[in-house]
Amino acid sequence: MHVKMKREPERLIIRPPSEWRSMLVRITRGCNWNRCRFCGIYPAMGQPDYSRREIGEIREDIDILARRHPARQTAFFGDADPISAGIETFTNAAQYLRKLVPELQRLTCYARASTLKRLGKKGIEELAQAGLDRVHIGLESGDAKVLRFHRKGQSPEMVRAVTKWLQEAGIEVSFYVLLGLGGRDRWQEHILATARLINQTRPEFVRIRRLWLYGTEATGTECPLWDMVRDGTFVEQTPEGTVMELRLLIQHLEPGPTFIACDHANNYINVSGFLNTDREDMMAEIDEFLALPEGRRQAHYQHTGSRI
Ligand code: SF4
Repeated sequence: MHVKMKREPERLIIRPPSEWRSMLVRITRGCNWNRCRFCGIYPAMGQPDYSRREIGEIREDIDILARRHPARQTAFFGDADPISAGIETFTNAAQYLRKLVPELQRLTCYARASTLKRLGKKGIEELAQAGLDRVHIGLESGDAKVLRFHRKGQSPEMVRAVTKWLQEAGIEVSFYVLLGLGGRDRWQEHILATARLINQTRPEFVRIRRLWLYGTEATGTECPLWDMVRDGTFVEQTPEGTVMELRLLIQHLEPGPTFIACDHANNYINVSGFLNTDREDMMAEIDEFLALPEGRRQAHYQHTGSRI
């Protein structure tokens, strides 16, 4: 007897923690760049190749998701850079979802700064008109040298330009900052340039992560940066150095409407709040931790989890 299999929507590989209640729609598969030395996440999680999905398939997924989750008020498009599917596919999917779920209150996605730069101001306005409310951008660092070393494929100038276009179009910006990315040799330049860029661009959110070199040579799914650690061109930051980076960052951020969130289990310290009102409290929390006896701080570092 032939049993017809029920069609399931394609699943995303990764989503921001803040999108845990969102309808998750896959527009592209994997990462179209796949070169950042500190990443390699998509290949490591079983998606080595990049491809664009057909709009017909995406709409079928949206049909199923909308039927299954009629009460969901937020949606997220993935994988790593769904706008790279092309503006027509992206806006078609966004408009279709908005039509099917008129009570949707927020539509967000990951986006590479270089893809947004290629779209230009006009293309970004089209995204806003199609109903995109927020983009999650991997800023990682505001330091051009750090970005180049890690092959991020973006420059601080590029990020400044696209952030302005996004904000002018009414799309919120959520940056990810990676503590430890300058290694032990360039941590201050990394942090000070990152603070400068945040002060200049005033994103709505800054989400803090710490660099974690996952895997080992033996497992075959190691972080590409291990090669640089082995040949000595990258020296990993210490756990305490990572906390000092967070302190230096908050210290140099100017008051503003940006919300800071350390919303990942790998972070050693989980401060959060608005720069306008909570900056001093965040600094006090970090200093309180740093004033603990050495043994307690080291035990805390050891017990903090590391996961993708
Ligand atoms: S950090 Fe983002 S752009 Fe870079 S390889 Fe990873 S998923 Fe791709």
